[in-house]
Amino acid sequence: MAKTKNTNERQLRELTKNHLLVPLITTIIVIGIAGVLVYGFMNVMIQYTVNGKLSAEYDNADYIARLYDSGDDADKYLDMCRRSYIVVDENNSIIAQRGRNTCSFEGSEVWISNSGSEIMAYSDTEVDFIHTSDYGNVKLDTIRFVGALADSESEYNKRLLNLINDVNDAQESGAQSEDSREEMITSIAMDSTIYLPIWVEHGLKDGKRIIVQAQLAIGVEDVAVVAGFIAAVTLIAVLVFIMFVANIFRNASRNKRTLKIFFTDPVTRGNNRMWFLVRGEQYLRKGKTAKNEYAVVNLEFVDYRNYCLCHSIAEGEKMLVEIQNRIDSRLSKEELSAHMNASNFALLLRIYADEEALKERVLGIIRELEGIHTEHAFHFQAGIARIGVKRNEKGSIVRRRDLNLELYYSNADVARTTLAKRDESGVAMFDDKLVEERRWKDTVQEHQQSALANEEFVVYYQPKYNPVTDELKGAEALVRWQSPEFGFIPPGRFIPIFEDNGFITEIDHYMIEHVARDQKAWLDAGFKCVPVSVNVSRAHFIESSLAEQIRDMVDKAGCPHEYIEIELTESAFFDDKNALITTINRLKSYGFSVSMDDFGSGYSSLNSLKDMPLDVLKLDAEFFRGENAGERGELVVSEAIKLAKSLNMRTVAEGVEEKGQVEFLARQGCDMIQGYFYAKPMPGADYEERMKAGVKPKE
Ligand code: C2E
Ligand code: CA
Ligand code: CA
Repeated sequence: MAKTKNTNERQLRELTKNHLLVPLITTIIVIGIAGVLVYGFMNVMIQYTVNGKLSAEYDNADYIARLYDSGDDADKYLDMCRRSYIVVDENNSIIAQRGRNTCSFEGSEVWISNSGSEIMAYSDTEVDFIHTSDYGNVKLDTIRFVGALADSESEYNKRLLNLINDVNDAQESGAQSEDSREEMITSIAMDSTIYLPIWVEHGLKDGKRIIVQAQLAIGVEDVAVVAGFIAAVTLIAVLVFIMFVANIFRNASRNKRTLKIFFTDPVTRGNNRMWFLVRGEQYLRKGKTAKNEYAVVNLEFVDYRNYCLCHSIAEGEKMLVEIQNRIDSRLSKEELSAHMNASNFALLLRIYADEEALKERVLGIIRELEGIHTEHAFHFQAGIARIGVKRNEKGSIVRRRDLNLELYYSNADVARTTLAKRDESGVAMFDDKLVEERRWKDTVQEHQQSALANEEFVVYYQPKYNPVTDELKGAEALVRWQSPEFGFIPPGRFIPIFEDNGFITEIDHYMIEHVARDQKAWLDAGFKCVPVSVNVSRAHFIESSLAEQIRDMVDKAGCPHEYIEIELTESAFFDDKNALITTINRLKSYGFSVSMDDFGSGYSSLNSLKDMPLDVLKLDAEFFRGENAGERGELVVSEAIKLAKSLNMRTVAEGVEEKGQVEFLARQGCDMIQGYFYAKPMPGADYEERMKAGVKPKE
C-alpha cells in the first residue's frame, strides 16, 4: 500500500493551509526591532541625562571640597549642603565623616562630558543600580531603573528617602519639623523622581580626598522623551501583535468555512466523497480503531438514471437525500457514510462477526432502500472490501498508519462491478484476484486495437466428424491470440472482455474475413472443403445489416457461401425475436447455413426452436458433463435430436470426449460430433491434413 498520503489529503492541506509564517516572521522582526530601538535609545538618553546630572553633582562636590578646605566655619555650610561625605587621607583611612558611609569604594574614573574632565566615582552599597563602567561612563542598570521609576513608591526610593532623612536628622538635629520632612518624602514620592546615589571624589589640600555622596535626581521629565518613544514603539509592537492574532483568528474561521464547503455534498447537504476519504482515513489510522475490523461498502443506486428520466433530476436528488438518511439511520456511532457521486454511496461499517453476517447486514440495508418508493422497484448493488487489523512481525496489533481508504473504496467498486449489469440488487465481496482481473482487462483493452492491426489473432479450426462414418463433415473456427508480449492466449481470457466493450464485433468480422480467405485458398488448392462455422456474437445482432455485411465480406474473399456457416449463441435468442428471425432468413437467402450454438446451456425452450428457421442445432457440452451426464442427460439429448430432426435441422454435439458418448450419439442419429474425442481446435496447417485425410485418422 502506498506510504505517501493520498492526493485528497494533500489537496485539503493546500486548501486550508494557515498562511501564518509570513505574518509571524514580520511580527517577530517588528517586535525585535522595536525592542532593540527602545533599548538603545533608552540607554543613550539615560546615559546622557545621568552624565548631565553627574556633572552638576560634581560641581556640588567641588563646592563642598572647597568649603571643607576653607576651614572650621565651613561646617555650617556643609550642613546646608545636605550631602553625606567622607574624608580620607593618603592611606585611605577615614579621617572625617558626615552622614552615613555607604560608599562601596568600588568604582573608576568617569568622564564628565560638560567639563571634559575625569573624576573618580564609586557606587553606593545600598542603592546599587548605578555603577561606573570601564569605558569611563556611569552605567545605569536601565531595566531596573525604569522599573523603579515606574513605581514611585519603589523600595529604592524609600530607602533613599530614609537615607536623606538620616542625613537631615544628623545635620539639623530636629531643626526641621516632622511635617516638612513628611512633606518632602511625599513630594519626592509623588513627583516620580528617583534618587540615585553615587559617590564622587574630589581632592583636598595636603593629599587628602573628600568623597561626597551625589544624588542624581532623575525624574519623569528627564526621561519623558524616552518614555514617549518607548510608548510609541510599544504601541506599534502591540498593534502589530494584535494584527497578527487577528490574522490567526481570521484564518482559522476562514479555514473552518472552507472545510465545511469542502466536505459538504451539494446534493444531500451531508458528507461528501472528500469527507469520507479524508475523515475515514484519519479515523482508521487512529490507535483506538486499530483492533477493530472494518469494511468499506461501495453502494450503487442502480435505477437512479432511470428514475431521473421518468421524473426529474430534482426528484432524483430528493431520493438521494432520502437514501442517505436511511443509510445514516442504520449506522452505529463508529461508522461513517457519504454520498460519493451521482448514484453512489460509500459506507464504512464495523465488522462484528463473519463475512456472511456482514453481507447480510448490507443486504438488510439494501432491502430497506429498495422499499423507499412504493411505486418504483429500486435496486442497489454493493461491493464490499474488508479492512483487517494490521499486525507487526511479532503478531501484535499496530495502527494502520499508512492506510489508503480510497484504495479500499475502489476495491469495493471492483467487487461491485462483478455483479451482473442487470437491474438486480446484489452484494459482492472483494478479493485480490479481482484486482488481477481488472488489470488484465485494462491490458487487453490497451492492446486490442494493435493486436487486430498486427493480425495477432489466429484462426484455429476444430473439425466436426460424422460419428457413424468418421468422415469430416465440417469445422468450427475458433479464435486464439498469439501475442508477442503475452504469449498464447485462449479466447476465454479475452472474448468476455471484448463482449463487454463491444470490440467483439471487430473480432467477428476478422474471423469471417480470415475463414472466407482460407476456404477460398483451400478450394483453389483443390482441397475437399467442408463448411466452417464462425461465431457471431450476440452484440452483433442489433445491426440490421448484419447479413449483408457478412455476405459482402465473404464475397470479397471470393468464397462460395455454402462453405460458411454462422453460429449464433443461444442467449441471443432472448433478444428481439423478430429481428433475429429476419436476419436468419436473410443469411439463409444468401446461401449461408445458420446454427444455434450452446443449445441447452441457457433457458431456451425446445418450443422456441419451432419459430426459428435454423439449419443446425449445436448441443452444448454441458449435456455430457457433471450432473447432466448419465441417463437424464441422454434422455434430453435424444429428445433434442428427435425434435431437431422433425424440424429438418442437423445436429452437432459439442465437447464430446469419450467413445461411449460417440456411440450413444451415433445411435440417436446425431449428425456431427465436435469434440476432443475426434480433434482439438488446431492451426490451419494441421486442419489441411485433416481435410486431406477426409476421415478420422487412425491413432
Ligand atoms: P464455443 O463457441 O462453444 O466453442 C466451443 C468451445 O469448446 C471451444 O473452446 C472448444 O475448444 C471447446 N471444446 C470443443 N470440444 C471440446 C471437448 O471435447 N472438451 C473440452 N473441454 N472443450 C471442447 P474455445 O476455443 O476455448 O472457445 C471458447 C469460447 O470462446 C467459444 O465457445 C466461443 O463462445 C468463444 N469464441 C471462440 N472463438 C470465437 C470467435 O471467433 N468469435 C466469437 N464471437 N466467440 C468465439
Ligand atoms: Ca461456437
Ligand atoms: Ca458451443
